[in-house]
Amino acid sequence: MTPSPLASLLLRAAEHPKLRDYQVAEVRKLADAVRSGSRRPLCQLPTGAGKTVIGSTIAKTLADAGLRVLILATRTRLVRQWHQQLAGLGARAGVIAAQAPHLRDFTARVQIASADTLHRRCMTVERMPLPGADVVIFDEAHLAAADTRLGLLEGYPGALRLGFSATPARRSGRGLGAVFDSLVCGPSIDELTRRGVLVPAKVFSSPIVTADDLAALPKDATSDYAPGALGHLLMRPRLAGDVVQNWLRIAAGKRTFLFAVNKAHGAALAEEFSRAGVAAELLTDADDEATRDAAIARLESGATQVLLNCFLMSYGVDVPSLEAVVLARPTRSLAMYLQMVGRGLRPSPGKEHCLLIDHGRVIENLGLPNTPIAWSLDDETNVNREAERRTSSHAVERPRTCPECGHVWLITEFGSACRECGWAPAPKAREVAVEEVELEEIGTHSPYASIGSPEFTQFVREAIGYGAQRKPDKWAQRPSAIRAAAWHAAREKFDVPDGSIPRWAWGLEPLPPSEATAGYMTYRRIRFAKSRRAA
Ligand SMILES: [Zn+2]
Repeated sequence: MTPSPLASLLLRAAEHPKLRDYQVAEVRKLADAVRSGSRRPLCQLPTGAGKTVIGSTIAKTLADAGLRVLILATRTRLVRQWHQQLAGLGARAGVIAAQAPHLRDFTARVQIASADTLHRRCMTVERMPLPGADVVIFDEAHLAAADTRLGLLEGYPGALRLGFSATPARRSGRGLGAVFDSLVCGPSIDELTRRGVLVPAKVFSSPIVTADDLAALPKDATSDYAPGALGHLLMRPRLAGDVVQNWLRIAAGKRTFLFAVNKAHGAALAEEFSRAGVAAELLTDADDEATRDAAIARLESGATQVLLNCFLMSYGVDVPSLEAVVLARPTRSLAMYLQMVGRGLRPSPGKEHCLLIDHGRVIENLGLPNTPIAWSLDDETNVNREAERRTSSHAVERPRTCPECGHVWLITEFGSACRECGWAPAPKAREVAVEEVELEEIGTHSPYASIGSPEFTQFVREAIGYGAQRKPDKWAQRPSAIRAAAWHAAREKFDVPDGSIPRWAWGLEPLPPSEATAGYMTYRRIRFAKSRRAA
């Protein structure tokens, strides 16, 4: 197949009414690349931008024109997503995957194959011939450089090779020039957020390891922290408690993915969450797909609040209602970082943002997740080291981290004070005069003002309910102790100075605590227990 008819077919695919305008632009850019002679274009689009929609539209258009299309996916879950998407477009497609024999249809022009199944059947165990194809689409193309995948792709020397990835780089950070010959980049995360295709991340940093600890760790073949040594570091006794406390403080009650470094680390964290009364479960590579699907369904329904895993979720799992992502593991890999964060940015009704809690200094080292990245196919370019250099130099604005609550933001975007807790930097000497005038102006605003607000009263009533539920005997015998504890928790939460409890507060009726209130009360309880242990 010569380049120009293929380019024309891609232009035809770009006219499909199902594509959004930025997706149309992306397919046109692909057509341009092919017209200019590219035989192996790689298409970059942030997670959630709709690469399966684009790829399926292209596959259907090419198949309608009589071409054979082979789609290679790295997980059975993704094979199913492609199959569903193509069915939605009215395209016939067969599936080659050990776990989906009922979807087999060898006569369809579009074949969707699990890369692992195909490799086993055609390259190693059974030595069957590879299915014929004029065009090979590789999903999750950042994984295409592995020997087994490359071996498959090399079985199609004459075919057009089309890759899709949100993070077109190897885990080491190096480019994929050995697999693809041109790179077409889509809209940025910020642009997709402005369009409402993604939601923004609300970021918190609460390091559980020191920069020196990280620097001292041995590195693996990809220059990332060696998992064994990293696991050992993260298993220090206190750290699991810190992760749970921060979740209770920032993300209590939110549907959460947590990324741990290995099974032992994940299990220790899951146990700590359970001990704090949080419904948590751990998935590992040993779990089969049915087990994973069931766990994800429990997360979606709210029966499970925190789903912990050791990296397997970072590729291809799509849970739009996810509200929080916890990075309990440090990494030096930009691709791994963005794949983890990308799980949380899909929109869902009522979802305004996704909480991102970074315990591993990942943001400090690689930047905020929406920092624009100059992806490159060049094997000499290393996006991981570029990101580290950029973040440590002044090439981009260094994000500010609130010393009180850990919130991370850009001053150019949101000003110098923390929007989460109200912390503001101490004024510089020459600014004091101005600050004093402003303080006088707001001096009439009493620090006790929030006591009268409905939110304050609601919190006190829920906090009383929390205490009454937890200690029914005490509530029956000494209700004033439960009421006083609730009052002081509310005072702390709303930043009200100490003072006597007003008479009306003694008459407040308890309410069932919301998850956020229960989380805050649990966080206080653990903090108190710790301070007693330390004393
Ligand atoms: Zn703050």
